[in-house]
Amino acid sequence: MAGFTVQEIRARIARFPKQTLIHLPTPFRKLDRLSAELGGPEVYIKRDDLTGLAFGGNKSRKLEFIIADALSKGADVIITWASLQSNWCLQTAAAARRFGLQPILVLFKTYDLAPEYDGNLLLDYIVGADIRIREAEKGKVVSEEQAVGIIEEISNEVREWGHKPYVVSVGGSLPGFSMDLPLGAISHAAAFVELLEQAESGGVSPTHVVIATGSGATQAGLTVAAMALKKDVEIIGISVSEEKEAFARIVLKISEETERALGLDSSIKRDDIIVLDDYLKEGYGHVNREVAEAIRLAFTREGIVLDPVYTGKAMAALIDLVTKGRFSKKDRVVFFHTGGTPALFPYRKTLIELLG
Ligand SMILES: *Cc1c(COP(=O)(O)O)cnc(C)c1O
Repeated sequence: MAGFTVQEIRARIARFPKQTLIHLPTPFRKLDRLSAELGGPEVYIKRDDLTGLAFGGNKSRKLEFIIADALSKGADVIITWASLQSNWCLQTAAAARRFGLQPILVLFKTYDLAPEYDGNLLLDYIVGADIRIREAEKGKVVSEEQAVGIIEEISNEVREWGHKPYVVSVGGSLPGFSMDLPLGAISHAAAFVELLEQAESGGVSPTHVVIATGSGATQAGLTVAAMALKKDVEIIGISVSEEKEAFARIVLKISEETERALGLDSSIKRDDIIVLDDYLKEGYGHVNREVAEAIRLAFTREGIVLDPVYTGKAMAALIDLVTKGRFSKKDRVVFFHTGGTPALFPYRKTLIELLG
């Protein structure tokens, strides 16, 4: 069967209500100096760190749809959870406040950072989020089971006060709670179309997209759109939290729900989901020398600031893959910058140690 056209995919995405929160399209360009330095494929960047909500990032694409969903359900409070320095929680709080919704953030202490008002946590405070800090297993991302009890309790509290909560799970990825549809992934199917149009109008046809993958919807959305358009583009997810089999199952599940929501034939299989966990090393939120050096390299060669938890890891992976010959010289590899830069600041000590 022939693939869908860009117009068809766009029309299907346009059936889902959306509020405007960000500036689109985000920039796309070649990283000339980095490409030359690495001596491998041509490397391009999609700057979703420049979406323009708070400090930007992939979560703000998701929230354009999620806020619209919350408003249509008559909610006046948004409840979500993640780790202490979560980009998702900050973006949710910023989006919610703009539309007059009260954000309640349950933040788990998942790694060794102190619960200080710094980075995203400082911004959560300034924007007026209701912040609830809780303990979590060290080195782990918060599990749904762990969060569920606390979220139920808070939802009941909100209802007792006569308000209507909208609960959305970590990262805005897995449908469930108040979000019935994979809205996060749908927004990233749109991101793929946007990226493809920009690339092709500049005469570039991408062969690979490298992306940091955390809760899965970004990778799912990009992969679903690439397959629906029958574009031979490998979407390579660099896991920042889970072992690859567990992770691929999550991405596959979100992808299948996204195909269904968009009325596409279900065509995605396990083998279409490429997740690498070789860069996970000591676990979520752990910064090592390769990550610190990748951050410095992108900054010095291209003036681009990466974050220590997601995009720094993805760039370290891209560099390693080039070194190992994963790409040919003729390939066009797009690095998808998903944001997260406020988290640099709470990591100052580690970064200085590693770069010193
Ligand atoms: C959340 C996040 C990701 C991962 O996106 P998912 O859709 O959760 O997989 C990548 N980079 C940054 C900076 C993020 O905040």
